[in-house]
Amino acid sequence: MAQIIDGKKVAQKLKDYLKIEIESIKSKFNRVPGLAVVQVGNVAASSVYVKAKTKAAKEVGINVYDHHLEDTIEQNELLDLISKLNNHDDVDGILVQLPLPKSFNEQIILDSITPEKDADGFHPINVGKLSISQKNDENLLIPCTPFGCLLLLRELNINLVGKNAVVIGRSNIVGKPMAQLLIKESCTVTIVHSKTVDIEHVCKKADILIAAIGKPEIVNKNWVKNGAIVIDVGINRIRINEEKSKLVGDVLFEEVKEKVMAISPVPGGVGPMTIACLLRNTTISCKNKLSIN
Ligand code: NAP
Repeated sequence: MAQIIDGKKVAQKLKDYLKIEIESIKSKFNRVPGLAVVQVGNVAASSVYVKAKTKAAKEVGINVYDHHLEDTIEQNELLDLISKLNNHDDVDGILVQLPLPKSFNEQIILDSITPEKDADGFHPINVGKLSISQKNDENLLIPCTPFGCLLLLRELNINLVGKNAVVIGRSNIVGKPMAQLLIKESCTVTIVHSKTVDIEHVCKKADILIAAIGKPEIVNKNWVKNGAIVIDVGINRIRINEEKSKLVGDVLFEEVKEKVMAISPVPGGVGPMTIACLLRNTTISCKNKLSIN
């Protein structure tokens, strides 16, 4: 029987830990971490994510500074706001919810966030630090989704050293940082993508398979080795009938779970970890600023 990895439970454990850390910061420094959440426009999925992140941040004691802007604003106006937040003493983390409207250059916006307040860990300085550092250092600002995947793996209490890990997807926000994290855990890492030849064959050699593709249930039992660990990052909404839809991952869960040692479900796997790791980054930014180790 496969172990179904409970992302909600692991995320709650991290949030409980952060709550205690934040109480300790408050008692010593009379301040709490602050997170600025910036949303431009009204994309429904973004509103859902922003609401969930805001709620979780408040639950652990983080102050949230909400900035919901019309999609008619100019890029310069958004850059001005980020500049103000960069200089705002009570703001430790800045999150710009993606995607931005098409008229914005996302990379310019993300690069304008000062690296010390980069709650998503997407700034080139933080990407570089992640790449250069030898260990998955506690003070690094690490992209939330892949770090959440790593925490799920650690929770399984298996030795990662020497494991053959295959990451499906090479995006800047999931695939590439995931590979960096696994390299530092001493896994042997392969990244595959849409141009990989005979992808099933490569994936079937994985002890650890991370699927970050964005194609509903594409990973079936033929991609997976017996006894593997599968982390499903994908979030895809599929239609069941004319009225109803549901969320599925990139992995054909019901089929794959029969073969593997452990698998994360969708929903309830990686998703809650992404939010918890955003709170972790915000708390780390605050601790770095206050020179707390
Ligand atoms: P992305 O930027 O679109 O990247 C997708 C990657 O998958 C690309 O590298 C692409 O290859 C590869 N790919 C596409 N089709 C493929 C195929 N048929 N076979 C093999 N590889 C294929 O997506 P992303 O931002 O990394 O997100 C991936 C998924 O994770 C999405 O479903 C997204 O919603 C989800 N996600 C979830 C969370 C969470 O919190 N749970 C957070 C972030 C993202 P090429 O590079 O060759 O195009």
